[in-house]
Amino acid sequence: MKAKTYSIFGAGAAGLYTAWRLLNGESRDKSSNKLLEKGDTLELYDWGQYDFSKEYSGSRASGARVCTWHYQNDPSKSYVELGGMRYSEWNTKAKNHNDGSAPGHRLVTTVISQLGLDQFVVPFNESDNPLYYLRGKNFYLNDITSFNPAPYNVNNFGASTSPNQGFTTVENLAVTATSGPQTRREWDHFYQHGKITAELPASSVFQKGDKLKDIGYWDLMFDQLGSEGYNYAADGNGYTSNVINWNAAVAFQANNEFTPGNQYMTLTTGYSGMFKALFAAIVKLASDKGVYFNYQPNRRLHSILEIDKVIHYSIANRDNPNKKASSGKTDAAWLAMPRYALELVAQATRYENHPGLDVLNHQKVQLYMEAAIMQPSYKIGMFFKEPWWLTQAPYAPQLTSYEVTKDVIVQLAAQGFPSTYLEKISLPAVGNQPEIMNTPYSSTTSFLQAVEQRIQERLTVPQEEQILAAASRNTIGPSVTDNPVRMVVYFGNNALDKKAEPVYGLLAAYDDEAFTSFWQELELGPDQQRHIPLSENTEPLKGPRKVPERMLKMVRKQLANIHFGPNADFSAIPEPLDAAFIDWSLPPFNAGYHAWAAHYDIGDVQQKIRKPSQLIPGADVNIFIVGEAYSNDQAWVEGAYCTAESVLNDFFDVKPLIDNREYPFICSAK
Ligand SMILES: Cc1cc2nc3c(=O)[nH]c(=O)nc-3n(C[C@H](O)[C@H](O)[C@H](O)COP(=O)(O)OP(=O)(O)OC[C@H]3O[C@@H](n4cnc5c(N)ncnc54)[C@H](O)[C@@H]3O)c2cc1C
Repeated sequence: MKAKTYSIFGAGAAGLYTAWRLLNGESRDKSSNKLLEKGDTLELYDWGQYDFSKEYSGSRASGARVCTWHYQNDPSKSYVELGGMRYSEWNTKAKNHNDGSAPGHRLVTTVISQLGLDQFVVPFNESDNPLYYLRGKNFYLNDITSFNPAPYNVNNFGASTSPNQGFTTVENLAVTATSGPQTRREWDHFYQHGKITAELPASSVFQKGDKLKDIGYWDLMFDQLGSEGYNYAADGNGYTSNVINWNAAVAFQANNEFTPGNQYMTLTTGYSGMFKALFAAIVKLASDKGVYFNYQPNRRLHSILEIDKVIHYSIANRDNPNKKASSGKTDAAWLAMPRYALELVAQATRYENHPGLDVLNHQKVQLYMEAAIMQPSYKIGMFFKEPWWLTQAPYAPQLTSYEVTKDVIVQLAAQGFPSTYLEKISLPAVGNQPEIMNTPYSSTTSFLQAVEQRIQERLTVPQEEQILAAASRNTIGPSVTDNPVRMVVYFGNNALDKKAEPVYGLLAAYDDEAFTSFWQELELGPDQQRHIPLSENTEPLKGPRKVPERMLKMVRKQLANIHFGPNADFSAIPEPLDAAFIDWSLPPFNAGYHAWAAHYDIGDVQQKIRKPSQLIPGADVNIFIVGEAYSNDQAWVEGAYCTAESVLNDFFDVKPLIDNREYPFICSAK
């Protein structure tokens, strides 16, 4: 049998996952030879060059739109995340974990476990009393009452509640605690068929019976909440990308994130650690199986065509990315990249003088490509000698929480904490017992109560002090503001080397949409001109860039207002040890993440665009599009993995990685 060549373009989440599964997947049909076997070739191209290992090194951490930035680029030191940072844990120990309503990112959780990374999993604490700085006023969530409302003139006393109440009010037009979709399958159906079910007054633009997929979410929020209600929800939730004019049916589900129930996790190695491990697994599997693994960084797919039933592609080198440098043929091609990067390939292909089939430029494919709205984002990270936000700020974020992780157990054991207690604490909860391991407790009392209930004994005062000190975790947040920094996330001293001098990480700004241009102009000083067009500026591929002086002053000014009050000077914030940023509005991403546009049947888009020739009558070409952009879990690595898994299941006879009967990887279009 002829040896196969498979080519993956893009070494981000979707590309790496595809490579891994082509090598470790199990075929449904024993006689099928669609998976990679001895003698086959697996090509992996990427425009950038990420740091996967000593042998496969790069200029920045791995993960493409995930990029962990360690202090002094030393993996043993503290880090902040300048791209994707967390995942929603799927609790596989829960009795009903395979039900459609069980929360969590099932593929990410499974990949982490199968790569042996469970030992590095830690909770990503969300504050249950976040700090706000809105319209020049500093306050905490729990301060908001009808006597002390948030500074917005919202109808119906809307400023006397949490800013996220706006999302619930709008969602209640079709989904309540007792009605509407609950499971992933039901949501899938809702995206296509969900309608407004509430009776609305004649003054309302939108009415009972209107299909939500055909309504822009901004339009709907504005109609229902009024200008001030919209502004309060938009400012107060931190993400402008959540309140743009995207598909209202999908927004209902995605903005559910702001309701309790999700337990977010991350890795002590930094989130890039998952992609390092994935790459190492690919190298090993390929070598074990006798598959030739041809990894080519700094090389991008330039154009792609089918000519006489064969896929022909051309490659450009990073130093001249618009010029064809070489070409090749392949049996199957995965375009594991986001919308903007796909458009660049389509543009180059459009001008090829060829007799073949140009899949990407077919009108229906172009139409479906536009179904994903690009959402730019921007992150600025800093490291400090001291956690000034906890030790000096009058408006300190309320981060206190206690969590027992594996590290905590090891530390307590070394301090002589009774081993019988540690054994009991380490066990999963049974019956009505509260979960202890990896579960954040926001008060000392509730944490100690849970521990004592589990061990069925009272702790002594020294034991209480020991466990509180070991389990204390004053990190994450976020704090939210309408200033251009938008969100502040407190990473703290998260160095793997606990004995080293502490350094405290702060995600000083996490903003999106129009706010990215606020910072972009501060990248250059008043006497500097731009020399590289933004359309050719691929800085995110190089890695974090040093924050220039004036941008730093601007960030410090806003951090001072959030934590020290509206009249505070920038100098209230100490000079950081280091500061860097990544602008995700730049190529080849032009978006931190994507959102589904209104007026599309997103199930049909997901089903068809993953093999775009399905949209062209009579065509059948093994070109696949995978990644977060056209997924059911946009803005998450989970979406990238799920699209990749769906392609392998449906076109390569691969058995699903997990039981997916109640967890459709992509929408069904039914
Ligand atoms: C600021 C920010 C915060 C986020 N927060 C989270 C979070 O907390 N949790 C979470 O799960 N997700 C988060 N995300 C989203 C997550 O990072 C993405 O969903 C995921 O990384 C996307 O993976 P992908 O494989 O689809 O695409 P990408 O990561 O974009 O990978 C695409 C790859 O293709 C390469 N490429 C582009 N064009 C070509 C070409 N022509 N030829 C060859 N290679 C090419 C690129 O260089 C890149 O390496 C966040 C993202 C950002 C930016």
